Parts: sequence; structure tokens; C-alpha cells
Amino acid sequence: IRNVSKIYQNAGHQLTVLDNISFSIQRGSTVSITGPSGSGKTTLLGLCAGLDRSSSGSVELNQVALDHLTEDQRAAVRNKYVGFIFQNFQLLPTLTALENVMVPLELRGEKNIKSHALELLDKVGLADRSGHYPVQLSGGEQQRVSLARAFSNKPDILFADEPTGNLDAETSDKVIKLMFDLNQEAGTTLVIVTHDLDLAAKTNRMIKLKGGLIISDLELSHA
Ligand code: ATP
Repeated sequence: IRNVSKIYQNAGHQLTVLDNISFSIQRGSTVSITGPSGSGKTTLLGLCAGLDRSSSGSVELNQVALDHLTEDQRAAVRNKYVGFIFQNFQLLPTLTALENVMVPLELRGEKNIKSHALELLDKVGLADRSGHYPVQLSGGEQQRVSLARAFSNKPDILFADEPTGNLDAETSDKVIKLMFDLNQEAGTTLVIVTHDLDLAAKTNRMIKLKGGLIISDLELSHA
């Protein structure tokens, strides 16, 4: 991303949430984005993933410039390259856990989507909850369905917004392991917004935001 700003307009007021931010993330690396509540982390993740558009500046994902694409074109780029884990899960309430995971597989025209979706649910330890609707699942279970869904297109890059925010320590460890296994095994780039400093410490690089600015950007070595 280069010289990216995001300004929200609210009832005549302008709120600059990101102020001229630039960085690039290396393929295959693991990056955490930390910072106080309201510092613009979710906004930044959404711009990087092509979910939203910047007010100025340019965003490139896998060498595709996102700035002048239509909503549909951005969705196509996301389907091809991106997995996204939302802070509030964003599961479809009228579909079961299994069906939620099947949606992106179906969109991609995959065959045997049911068995593949079951395999993904099994990976996150939820094969026995496949027929449950989101409302019948705990927060942590919904988060794991959302993880299975994000993994389903073997993304080049996985964006995760507070992936462990609602989980107990044991489930949180499981989710972290799943993400880092994906990075190790498939080379998936991880970009994780988190308040959890133990999780941030596991990444290669920690970017800290405050007031819409990057106030530190540290490479971490894991000797
Ligand atoms: P948290 O850690 O609490 O999730 P965050 O660092 O992820 O916070 P953002 O969600 O990016 O912060 O929000 C940054 C600021 O932008 C906040 O002050 C928020 O109120 C504001 N904001 C976010 N989305 C919108 C919107 N759609 N319209 C107007 N203001 C918004």
C-alpha cells in the first residue's frame, strides 16, 4: 500500500482514520498489526484485502492494483487470493456450519464440495457441529467455522481480524496453530490484527498503529 489515507464522512464531520500510510508485505511472511482500540487496524485490514476502498493512495494485492476496480472486480480478486476472518465472524445465519463453508467452494465451481467442506470443519475440530446454525454455536465455534471458510480457497494471503479475541486459551492455541501451519505448509501470507501480544510475538513482523499512523514497524527474529 502506498500513501494510503482513509477519511470517513459522518454527518458533515471528517474523520481521518488512516493518514498517508505506506508499507509492503512480503509473500509468505507473517505480520501482526497491533494498536489501541480505534487506531484504524480493522480499516487498514479491509483496505489491504480489497473489502473497502481508500480515500487516496494505492493498494496492490498480488500485483493487482485495486484502486480503480469495480466492486465485482474486487470481489473476484478476493475470491482468487484472499481468505478473511472477521472480528464478528460474519457467518450467514440461515445456513448451517457446513453450508457456510460450502459457499466459497460452490462459488469457485468446485466438485465434491460437501466432503471438502466436512474435511475443513474436521480440521478445526467441528465435524460434529456441521448441522448447527450459527445461533446454535458458541462464539469460539463460530470463529472456527469462519476459519474453515477462510481456508477453503487455499488463500495466498489470509487476513484475520482478532482471530483469537473470543476464544479460551485452549481453542485460541488451536486456531493459532492452524494459521501458522497454513503459513508453513502452503506458504500462505498471514496478516493478523490482534491485541494478543503473545500471538503478535509469533509473527515475523509487528506493525503498530496509533491515531492512523504507523508508530513502529519491527522485524522479529525467532532464533
Ligand atoms: P478496535 O481495536 O476497537 O477493533 P480498530 O483499531 O480496528 O479498533 P477501526 O475499526 O479501524 O479501529 O476504526 C477506526 C476509527 O474509524 C474508529 O474511530 C471508528 O469509530 C471509525 N470508523 C470505522 N468505520 C467507520 C465507518 N464506516 N464510518 C465512520 N467511522 C468509522
